[in-house]
Amino acid sequence: MSYSDILERLGLSQAETTGGSLKVTSPVDGAEIAAVAEIKAADVPAVIASAKSAFNSWKAVPAPRRGELVRLLGEELRAAKEDLGRLVTLECGKIYEEGLGEVQEMIDICDFAVGLSRQLYGLTIASERPGHHMRESWHPMGVCGVISAFNFPVAVWSWNTALALVCGNSVIWKPSEKTPLTALACQKILEKALARFGDDAPEGLHHVLIGGRDVGDAMVSSEDVPIVSATGSTAMGRQVGPKVAARFGRSILELGGNNAMIVTPSADLDMAVRAILFSAVGTAGQRCTTLRRLIVHKDIYEQLMPRVIAAYASVKVGNPLEKGTLVGPLIDQASFDGMQSALAAAKASGGKVHGGERELAEQFPGGYYVRPAVVEMPVQNKVVETETFAPILYAMKYDSFDAAVEMQNAVPQGLSSCVFTTDVREAEQFLSDVGSDCGIANVNIGPSGAEIGGAFGGEKETGGGRESGSDAWKAYMRRQTNTVNYSRSLPLAQGITFDI
Ligand code: NAD
Repeated sequence: MSYSDILERLGLSQAETTGGSLKVTSPVDGAEIAAVAEIKAADVPAVIASAKSAFNSWKAVPAPRRGELVRLLGEELRAAKEDLGRLVTLECGKIYEEGLGEVQEMIDICDFAVGLSRQLYGLTIASERPGHHMRESWHPMGVCGVISAFNFPVAVWSWNTALALVCGNSVIWKPSEKTPLTALACQKILEKALARFGDDAPEGLHHVLIGGRDVGDAMVSSEDVPIVSATGSTAMGRQVGPKVAARFGRSILELGGNNAMIVTPSADLDMAVRAILFSAVGTAGQRCTTLRRLIVHKDIYEQLMPRVIAAYASVKVGNPLEKGTLVGPLIDQASFDGMQSALAAAKASGGKVHGGERELAEQFPGGYYVRPAVVEMPVQNKVVETETFAPILYAMKYDSFDAAVEMQNAVPQGLSSCVFTTDVREAEQFLSDVGSDCGIANVNIGPSGAEIGGAFGGEKETGGGRESGSDAWKAYMRRQTNTVNYSRSLPLAQGITFDI
C-alpha cells in the first residue's frame, strides 16, 4: 500500500497533505512524503480562544458522558489500528509491530479513561467542628496544551488527551514538526468519534497546531492555557518549564532518560540477555525508556558481555515495514551524527566500541540505519551521563550492590531503571527508599515499554511529571476542599472564639 493510500484511508485529503510549507520526510528512505500547512504563531491566540470557549461548555457535561466520547475514540482507533500503525512506521521509522503496539497503547488508555470518567473520586474528611462535613472535590482546569516528541508521535497525545477530555478540559496539541501526518490523522479519527457523539461536544474541543517551536511557545506563554504537558528533550523542558511557572501555570514535564539495568551474580542471564536486547535496541534506541547503561557484577561480566555483543551483531537492521526487522532507521541525519560523535567521545575516554556503523547506505542513501552499539566503558563518565538518543549501550562493571545502586542513581536523569536478580534482598533494596531514584523501577524486566495502568514519568532532569495510569489524572484537574456547616451555629476551627 502506498503512502497516499494510507493517508486517504485515514481521511487525509490530497489538499491537506500537499503544497504546505512543512515538508515531511520518511526516515525509511529519506523521501518526501507530504508537505503540510503550518499555523503562524500570531494565529495561535485565536485557537486558544476557541479552545477556551469550548472548555466553558464541556466542563458542564457530566464526566461519564465525557467518557462516552473517549469510548468512541477508542472504537475509532480500533478500526484505524493497522493504518495508523503503518503511518507511525512510515513517519517515525519504528518497526510495524511497534507502530501497532503504539496504537494499542492508545486504545488501552481510552479504555482506562472511560472507567476513570466514573471514578474522579475525592475524599471525605472528618471535620473537627460539630455539625460540619469536609470533602475534597475535583474540577476541570481549562485548556490543556500538549507538546509531543517524534518518537511516540501518537501514544503521548492519547495519554494526555483521553485523560484531559474525561477530566473536562479542552485540548490543543502541538506535535513534533517531524511527525505532523500522524497528528493530523489522529485529529481525523477524533472527528469521527465527535460526529458520532452528538451535540454536547462543543466546537473547538480539540485543535492540532502544526508548526515549529515558535508555535509551541505561543501556547506555552499563554495565561489561557493552565496546563502544559510537554514531552521531549530536557533542553526543551528547560525552556518550557520556567515559562509556564512564571505565569503560575501547571506543567507536566516528560523529558529525557538515561535508563540502567543492574545485572547481579544471581540473575537469570537468559532472561537478562533478552531484556537487554529488546530494551536497548527496540525503536532503534529512540525511546525515552531505552536501556542506555548496563551495570554488571564483575564476576559475571565476562560471561554476559560476549552474549550481548553476539546478540547485537545478529540483530536484523532494515526496512521497518518488512517482517523480521527488529531495528529500523534513526529519525534523521542529525541523529546519526549525534550518535557518531558520542561514540567518538566514548572511544577517546577509553571505551571499547562494538558496532555503531551505518548500514544499508546503498539501498537507502537518504535513510540512516545503524548497527546498534555496545561500548565497554572503564568508568561512568560525562559521555555516559548524557542521553544520546540513539542505540548506544554503555556497559560497566561493579563490585558491591550498594556501589551499583549508587552508579544507577549518579546521572542527571531519573526516568526508568531495573535490576536482574533472584536475590530477594537485592530486589527489595532496589525498590526501597535507599534504592533506585527513578520514577520507574523494575525487577527482572527491562526498563522500557511501560503499561498504561501505572503512572509514567521520572525525576530530576526527566522533569517530575506523571502521565497515563494510577492517579495521574489529578494533574489535569483542580482540587477543591469543601467544608459544609449543617448545624445552626458557627464554631471556628482550632477552638478560636471571636464573639461579637
Ligand atoms: P524535542 O525536545 O526536540 O522536541 C519535542 C517537542 O517540543 C517538539 O514538538 C518541539 O517542537 C517542541 N519544542 C521544542 N522546544 C520548544 C520550545 N522552546 N517551546 C515549545 N515547544 C518546543 O524532542 P524530540 O527530539 O522530538 O524527542 C526526543 C526526546 O524526547 C528525548 O530526549 C526523549 O528522551 C524525550 N522523550 C521523553 C519522553 C518521556 O515520557 N519522558 C517520551 C518521549 C520522548
